[in-house]
Amino acid sequence: KAAAFPVAKTLDTFDVAVSSIPAATFSYLSSLEWVRTHANLAMIGPPGTGKSHTLIGLGIAAVHAGLKVRYFTATDLIDTLYRGLADNTVGKIIDTLLRADLIVLDEIGFAPLDDSGTQLLFRLVAAACERQSLAVASHWPFEQWGRFLPEHTTAVSILDRLLHHATIVITDGESYRMRDARQQRKDQ
Ligand code: ADP
Repeated sequence: KAAAFPVAKTLDTFDVAVSSIPAATFSYLSSLEWVRTHANLAMIGPPGTGKSHTLIGLGIAAVHAGLKVRYFTATDLIDTLYRGLADNTVGKIIDTLLRADLIVLDEIGFAPLDDSGTQLLFRLVAAACERQSLAVASHWPFEQWGRFLPEHTTAVSILDRLLHHATIVITDGESYRMRDARQQRKDQ
């Protein structure tokens, strides 16, 4: 099944020099070595700082390298798992997801999760860790994840597993969209 990326963003159209991602980190991530060793990636930073572009670019590169990739926004993933909960197929859905080498979860924290949503996310993270790679993005710094994962113990367990073997990339600075808009005004 296709990875279902929402837009086609590739690593070669990402301008690392204007991003806050260190070139060495970007090059390490682009090598996909971390996917082969089942390590994770967490990208944290405000909107417009290139998190989605990087995640999708890495996902597309992984597909080209012959790896199996699934892409979800956190909301879509939780909706899918909730449907599984309703008809008793959640285990099956997770098993299917576990066939991917890389699971990309974008926009974590856009919508708060209730307790069972948090449990479902934990189930997936726990099952995936050390067997495949998770790549996630959120605009919330880790210490604020309690804002959308209200069940504290489970939230801590999710972070603990996710970050155990992970590259953490903090993106900051001005939104690329804003920068682009400013540049276009200047060029007019
Ligand atoms: P985020 O996920 O952090 O909100 P996005 O990755 O969606 O941000 O970036 C917003 C827009 O700016 C996208 O169209 C993306 O392609 C573009 N963009 C962001 N950073 C860069 C960059 N360094 N080089 C090229 N395009 C970028």
